[in-house]
Amino acid sequence: MLDIKFQIDKDSLARIVISTSRMPTEYADCLWDKYRSSYQQLQRDAFSNKIDNEILKELQSQAFFEKYYIEAKDNLKRVESAWKENKDKINKFLKDILRKEISLKMTAYICSPNMKMGKNIKNNCFIWGHMDGLDNENYDLVYMVHESLHSYFEWNNLTHAIIENITDVELAKYLNNSKSGYVYHDFTQDMHVRIYPFWNLYLNKPVEDIKEDMKITHIKYDVKKFERYRSALSTMNIDAFVEFLKNNVDNVKYDVMYKIK
Ligand SMILES: [Zn+2]
Repeated sequence: MLDIKFQIDKDSLARIVISTSRMPTEYADCLWDKYRSSYQQLQRDAFSNKIDNEILKELQSQAFFEKYYIEAKDNLKRVESAWKENKDKINKFLKDILRKEISLKMTAYICSPNMKMGKNIKNNCFIWGHMDGLDNENYDLVYMVHESLHSYFEWNNLTHAIIENITDVELAKYLNNSKSGYVYHDFTQDMHVRIYPFWNLYLNKPVEDIKEDMKITHIKYDVKKFERYRSALSTMNIDAFVEFLKNNVDNVKYDVMYKIK
């Protein structure tokens, strides 16, 4: 089960603001000049102890910081209540799509939506706060699950594309009750093309549904040529699927055509 605890306090927010440089450039330059090694350290590790705490205090005295803090507190109330309302539904979705029960306890450091941040910072923690969540809480939910899953999978383009398929696409479709999900990162596009035939079979989508889905993804391939993988892929769990892709995605002879609009 995925569990998320929500947290924000002035020190962690100050650390996040510095580690992500979400502040007026002139002020960032001034902090950089005054506390260069602490600034660099926070950029490497937002929760490092090896810093001069004055850098946090100085940032906290700024008007823009106070505004961020008030916005972060409001945002926390909003996303925490959305999570509580939907977490059972989301956990059921995850268990179904992963074909296994996971145990993941995350801490979400919520920031101002104006900071437009989503980042897994290791140790089962992530930073989250985005404007788009203000219009649709499902946006917050999808990306908080996305950031959480980075703590479940190892970090590479293959698992990143799988996380995007699980959350940005399938969870978004499920929560929004829509046919298309959110867009994914540019750097995973190529990986998405390569795993698409296998992902469709992992989900055990009927051939007709795959053809319909191609109109949305603009990825085309000869569906028949991959059918021989269906019985194995449609019953394995997500860990076995990742292993399968690691071993096969580079070896498969793609005597098919791919196109992305
Ligand atoms: Zn990601």
